[in-house]
Amino acid sequence: MSGETTASSGDGRVVALCGGVGGAKLALGLQTVLGERLHVVVNMADDFEHLGLHISPDLDTVLYTLSGLSDRQRGWGRADESWNFMAALAEVGGETWFSLGDRDLALHVERTRRLAAGESLTGIAADIAKRLGLTAQLWPVTDDPIRTIVVTPDEKLAFQRYFVAHRCEPAIRSIRFDGADKARLSAGVRAALQPEGLRMVVICPSNPYLSIDPILAVPGLRDAVRVAGVPVVAVSPLVGGQAVKGPTRKIMDELGVAADTEAIAAHYRGLIDGLVIDAGDAVGARAVDLPTCAVPTLMTDDASKVRLAQDVLAFGDALCGSTSVR
Ligand code: GDP
Repeated sequence: MSGETTASSGDGRVVALCGGVGGAKLALGLQTVLGERLHVVVNMADDFEHLGLHISPDLDTVLYTLSGLSDRQRGWGRADESWNFMAALAEVGGETWFSLGDRDLALHVERTRRLAAGESLTGIAADIAKRLGLTAQLWPVTDDPIRTIVVTPDEKLAFQRYFVAHRCEPAIRSIRFDGADKARLSAGVRAALQPEGLRMVVICPSNPYLSIDPILAVPGLRDAVRVAGVPVVAVSPLVGGQAVKGPTRKIMDELGVAADTEAIAAHYRGLIDGLVIDAGDAVGARAVDLPTCAVPTLMTDDASKVRLAQDVLAFGDALCGSTSVR
């Protein structure tokens, strides 16, 4: 692999499959490099109804991150947030296990109103993305309801109950995506994945089981990626065999999967042409039967996000012409 990019490849669209916090970091780097040529396809199986509101946690994390409004310390929600609503809710005995900041609340109220008025999640996301100044295009993978259900030894938990109320503590036996079999890929995602003008598909370093699998579960998505015939590159969410944040490593242990590069490659086998791994994981990647690119993948600031985006794009371009038959 030469690592050179061709002039024409640089003009093409890039489609990134993305969950929340980890994925959004790379999406920000990609947006800086690509601007409007970036199309981010986002998981919406974490969506839920709470206090009468439709909440889309991953979509909002991407929205706030790409618009520069996110709180970088906390890792979720908006910067410069206040919590008067939560305090007042507690006073009147309301449910307080899921925190909603005062500024953040506006997005949920407005989205809920527009959904009730008959607009689609896709249309609302596109409009709000434009209003908040995103240059990338933002696509919920589907407008149909999909809900992640986590099966533990004792009960079946709706995703936010598992993730927030139970702090990911219960062991996971299996994960299912209710409604996925009937979900239709949104028209915007279908159009973004059309082969003409498409440069590559990037799977962001999101949780493969909770953030990327529900995207891949939408019928037609895998086929659309396959027939596009462009390089498909995944970025491993493991750094030194550990998740940077969240339960990825814990889930791998619970599902009996070794937490290593080989397991991530196996998880995406048949879909990806190459895997970007952290330089610190290069030794353990010898057994991987796919092209790998070992670079620093820990994104701690804007510069490291842009650098990883550039590395991913160069790696994908270098794979061009050598994409495997999937
Ligand atoms: P969530 O839906 O908010 O949990 O976010 P994602 O599923 O998008 O991201 C969670 C994953 O991101 C975890 O597995 C982390 O290991 C991974 N992650 C977070 N930050 C980084 C980073 O800087 N580099 C890499 N390689 N992975 C990261």
